[in-house]
Amino acid sequence: MLCVASESVRSRILAAGQRITPQRDLIAGVLEAAEAPLGAQELLDAVALRDAGIGRATVFRTLQSLQDAGVVQHVPLPGDQGGYLLCPTSGHHHHLVCQRCGRVEDLLEDEVALFVGAVARDHGFDIDHAGLELSGHCSGCR
Ligand SMILES: [Zn+2]
Ligand SMILES: [Zn+2]
Ligand SMILES: [Zn+2]
Repeated sequence: MLCVASESVRSRILAAGQRITPQRDLIAGVLEAAEAPLGAQELLDAVALRDAGIGRATVFRTLQSLQDAGVVQHVPLPGDQGGYLLCPTSGHHHHLVCQRCGRVEDLLEDEVALFVGAVARDHGFDIDHAGLELSGHCSGCR
């Protein structure tokens, strides 16, 4: 099998208390190799190319476990159903989404917290920023 997750991704899966199963390894590896987030169908196709024996239900169950481990995130993308990506950052964080090439960069919670905190103070508003994603054009596309 060609496409397997890197050592650093494997160790993050282990650190989250999960075992490295062949399915987790394959799906994490596919997402790690992708340049941009993969939609559900794109991911199913990419997995089927490498191992036709992994069914749809197994792919989604595996994705959920990788999301639970904080290794994979689902990002809403404008105009479609969003995509899955493997993030360098574990745990809660936000994203900068390029509208042209589809690349996604992690926006760390520390960066967001300053802004959200200032707005919350100024407006006396308790902000739920769980869905905060910023869209625009990346440095390569500007
Ligand atoms: Zn991320
Ligand atoms: Zn771009
Ligand atoms: Zn946040």
